[in-house]
Amino acid sequence: MTAGRIRKVLVANRGEIACRVMRTLGNLGIRSVAVYSDADRDALHVGQSDEAVHLGAAPAAESYLRIDRVIAAAKATGVDAIHPGYGFLSENPAFVRACADAGITFIGPDADAIEVLGRKDAAKQLMEQAGVPVVPGYHGGNQDASFLAGEADAVGYPVLIKARAGGGGKGMRLVERPEDFPEALESARREAQAGFGDDQVLIEKFISSPRHIEIQVFGDRSGNVVHLFERDCSVQRRHQKVIEEAPAPGMTDAMRQAMGAAAVQAAKAVGYVGAGTVEFIVDGSGGLRPDRFWFMEMNTRLQVEHPVTEAVTGQDLVAWQIAVAEGGPLPMTQDQLGIQGHAFEARLYAEDTGRDFLPSTGTLAVLDLDGTARVDTGVRQGDRITPWYDPMIAKLIVHGPDRMTALGRLQAALEGSFVAGCTTNLRFLARLCALERFRAGDVETGLIARESEALAVAAAPPPEIVAAAAMIVSRPAKTGGRTGPWDHAGYWRAWGGAELAVSLDGQEVRLAMRADGGADVRAGGWEGHCRWTGPGDGCLVVNGCVTELRHHLDGHELLVASGGNEWVLTVDDPGAMAEEGGGRGDRVTAPMPGLVTRIAVEAGEAVGEKQLLAVMEAMKMEHAMRAPRDGVISRVHVRQGDQVESGTLLLELEPGTQTEP
Ligand code: ADP
Repeated sequence: MTAGRIRKVLVANRGEIACRVMRTLGNLGIRSVAVYSDADRDALHVGQSDEAVHLGAAPAAESYLRIDRVIAAAKATGVDAIHPGYGFLSENPAFVRACADAGITFIGPDADAIEVLGRKDAAKQLMEQAGVPVVPGYHGGNQDASFLAGEADAVGYPVLIKARAGGGGKGMRLVERPEDFPEALESARREAQAGFGDDQVLIEKFISSPRHIEIQVFGDRSGNVVHLFERDCSVQRRHQKVIEEAPAPGMTDAMRQAMGAAAVQAAKAVGYVGAGTVEFIVDGSGGLRPDRFWFMEMNTRLQVEHPVTEAVTGQDLVAWQIAVAEGGPLPMTQDQLGIQGHAFEARLYAEDTGRDFLPSTGTLAVLDLDGTARVDTGVRQGDRITPWYDPMIAKLIVHGPDRMTALGRLQAALEGSFVAGCTTNLRFLARLCALERFRAGDVETGLIARESEALAVAAAPPPEIVAAAAMIVSRPAKTGGRTGPWDHAGYWRAWGGAELAVSLDGQEVRLAMRADGGADVRAGGWEGHCRWTGPGDGCLVVNGCVTELRHHLDGHELLVASGGNEWVLTVDDPGAMAEEGGGRGDRVTAPMPGLVTRIAVEAGEAVGEKQLLAVMEAMKMEHAMRAPRDGVISRVHVRQGDQVESGTLLLELEPGTQTEP
C-alpha cells in the first residue's frame, strides 16, 4: 500500500479538521477534494477545497459514514489518497480495507492495528504482553456478572466499568461500593449495547485524583517510531476534553522519558504507521512519578488537540502524515525533536454549560474570534450549528515562552472573542483560565466538577450591566451591534431632558438624558451616570469607570459580554409595560418618549380589554397601547403625529359596560 508521491487527496470529513487538513495540503501543493452532506452545501470546508463531491443527506449515516459513496467520490475525482480526519470513518478498519481495494492510500495506520486498538480489552492484553503498564483490572472474556463482581472486589473499590467498544465516555460507570456493582453493570451494559452494539465490559481500578496525559507518536513503514512528547488533557467535563496543554504541568524529565518510551513501545507492539496517540491515566496525587502511569487506550488518528503539539514542537503533523503515507521516513529523529515554550488549546463548543453542557444549536449571528490565537474553525459568521454533527465551533490555540504567559494569552484571546446566536462555552472557558487551581497547574479530571460553583455563570447581572443594557436598548438606531459609531447625538437632541423607561428582566430602568450625551440611570435602588466613550461598539463609562462591552440584540434577548462574563437580559416590550403601568385604571400614558403614529379609537367609543387604542414608535420599534380593561373612551388627548414625553396622558377611559361586537 505504499504510495509514492501524493498529488491529490480527498478529505473524508467536515468542519474544522477538514479545513485544517486542506490548509496543509494547499501548502504542500497537493490538490484537495471535499465531500459534503445536504446540511453542508455551503460549508467552509467545501469552499476551501479545489473540488467537492456531494455524499448524501444530512445524517452522517447517509453521508460522511457511507464508505461506498466516499470511495466512489475518491475514484470519480482520481485522488491518490484519503485523509479521514478524526471521528466518522477515521478508525473504521472496513473503510481502510475499502481504500486498499480501490487502490487508494489511506492516510493512517493499517486496518489490523486499528482493529486491535479499537477494542479496549484486546488493546490492554496486547500492551500488557508488550510490557506497557496497564491499569490494574480485568479485561478478559468472562462476562458473568458474579465473576465480574469478584474481579471488582479483587481490584479494590472504587472501580470503573468500561464498555470494551466504548468511546466518548459512553458505557462507563464509576462504582464506589460493592453493593452498587450489579446495578451499575446492568446500566453500563445497556448503554454499551445501545451505543456500540456490543455489551462486553472490562473492570478497571479507578485512579483517584487522575490526570489524563497522552503521548503523540508517529511511525513510518520502515518500523521507526518516535514520540512528540506529551499533552495534558486533564481538564474535562463529562469525560470529554475542554482545554489541553503541552507540556504537562509538573512534568519531570524522568517521567517524560518513561512515558515516551512506553508509548513508543506500545506503537511498536502493533507495527504502527502514521500519527497515533497513546493515552495514559496518571495518578497525580503525589506529583508526577514514573511508576504512576498506566495505558488507557491508543487512538489511531490525528487528535482534536494535535495543535498544541504542533505549537511546542514547531512541526506540522498533517505534513508528517503525508510524508509517512507516501512511504517516506519520519521527517525527524527523536534526537532532533524538542519542546519550545508552552501551548494551550481551548475548545469552543455550542453548548449550555449551565445545563450540564448540553449541546445547543443556532445561527452564528456574530462570530468574532480573537486573531491573536491560532483559530482552527470550520464555520463563519452567519453559519448554522446544526444538530447533525459535533457542536464544536472552533479551537483557539496559543503559545508562549512559559505556562503563565501562554495561559494569559489564552485568557486574553477568549475575553477578546465574542459569539452570539447560539449558547456557547466561551465565557466558561475564560472563567476556567482564571481559576486559581488551574493557574497553579493543579489539574485533574475532576477539576471542573469540583470547581462548578466558581465556574457557574454569575446569576444576576450587576447594576452596572443592567444600566449598560438599558443604554444599549435605548440607543436610537439598530446598528446590528458592531457597525459604525452610534449616532446618539441626534437622539439626545430630540429627547434632551426627557426621561426614558426600559424594562429589563421585568425590572424598570429609568434613564434621564443629560446634555453631555449620557444619562442618569436608575435601576432598583441603584443610581449612576452612564455615557459612551469613543466610537462604535465598546466602551461605556459607568460612574467614571470604563467598562468594555460587547452585545447582541436578538428580538427580546440582549446578550451583554464584559470581561470574562456574559449575561442574557430579556428586554420586555414597553407595550406590555403600558398595560400594567401606564394603562392602569382610567388613564393610558406614554411609557416612553416617542411618536404617536396611530390613534385607533374616538372619544365615546366602547372598548374591550386589550383592544388596540393607539400605536407609538420609539427606538425604531412600534409599541401597541391597549385598553387596560373594558370601558368607554372619555377623552383622547393626543393626535396622530404628536411627539410625546414619557408619562404624557394619551387617553382616558370612563367606567362603562362592554358592548357586544
Ligand atoms: P472513552 O474512550 O469512552 O473516552 P477512556 O477510557 O478514554 O474512555 O476514558 C475517558 C476518561 O475517563 C479519561 O480521560 C479519564 O478522565 C477517565 N478515566 C478513564 N479510566 C479511568 C480510571 N481507571 N480511573 C480514573 N479515571 C479514568
